[in-house]
Amino acid sequence: MSISPASLPLNADLHCHSVVSDGTLTPEALAQRAQANGVQLWALTDHDEIGGQQRACAAAHANGMDYLTGTEISVTFADNTVHIVGLGFDADNAQLQHGLALTRGGRGARAQEISRQLGEVGIHGAYEGALKYVGNPELISRTHFARHLVEIGECRDTSEVFRRYLTEGHPGFVPHRWASLVDAVRWIRDAGGMAVIAHPARYRFTANEEFALFSEFKRHGGEGVEVVTGSHTPAEYKIYTDMAHEFGLAASRGSDFHSPDESHTDLGTLPPLPEGLTPVWEKLDHRIQRRPA
Ligand code: AMP
Ligand code: MN
Ligand code: MN
Ligand code: MN
Repeated sequence: MSISPASLPLNADLHCHSVVSDGTLTPEALAQRAQANGVQLWALTDHDEIGGQQRACAAAHANGMDYLTGTEISVTFADNTVHIVGLGFDADNAQLQHGLALTRGGRGARAQEISRQLGEVGIHGAYEGALKYVGNPELISRTHFARHLVEIGECRDTSEVFRRYLTEGHPGFVPHRWASLVDAVRWIRDAGGMAVIAHPARYRFTANEEFALFSEFKRHGGEGVEVVTGSHTPAEYKIYTDMAHEFGLAASRGSDFHSPDESHTDLGTLPPLPEGLTPVWEKLDHRIQRRPA
């Protein structure tokens, strides 16, 4: 007896990155890979940038997938960087575009300072080295520096880079002020989309700070949280299932795929959401851009 497809959970992957931010694949190559892995509903969520959305939607449809618009906004909350995913917004919304442009704005000067610090520990020319990996001149990120440090043999892989460089207490860490939580949530909501807390287990918050993040996020109109992500362990799926219930948030699922060579979680390969949660795509049904019949 075969299982009816209707009884299977939807394979939705609502978090990944292309060359438009710090991924290594084009939106078209990501769409093909997602489709090959069985993804049915897809969103490209480049950091602080929606320049790849039209291409991603067209490629999703060409590969028989439904599409939700996406982005991942860098936010400063309680002196930490938090990521807020936006889904299902109108990509032509001027306020959202303007807010994202402002958020991207400081990256050039920050990259120069990262490079200067690396020069102080004997790693010269890192800015130029990182630029070789940059697909979007407005979006130079630590990931591009990490790829350069691996290329020159300073570290074995990008995980080692983030243990030894670019993070707090290590050379190449440059504190940066990103968007505020209230602005990021407002830009997404006013553009008709849903704000989702990305990979909450990744933040080094105390229990009080995490409670404050979820409370303020909710108060400002945030509606979702990533429960099943490439950044969480199965034990963390359970913790954030409970948080979703406690705060009345819908749940999202996404690999956070960046690159075939670097990402340990491929598109569309995570387990389904735990039973009893409201998937974000149910609340965003009216925002899904359906594949042609
Ligand atoms: P940025 O927005 O320039 O601060 O860069 C942040 C990006 O660096 C994240 O989106 C990840 O892609 C990458 N990153 C941060 N921490 C790590 C880590 N520990 N291992 C691998 N990649 C990381
Ligand atoms: Mn990234
Ligand atoms: Mn992130
Ligand atoms: Mn991400």
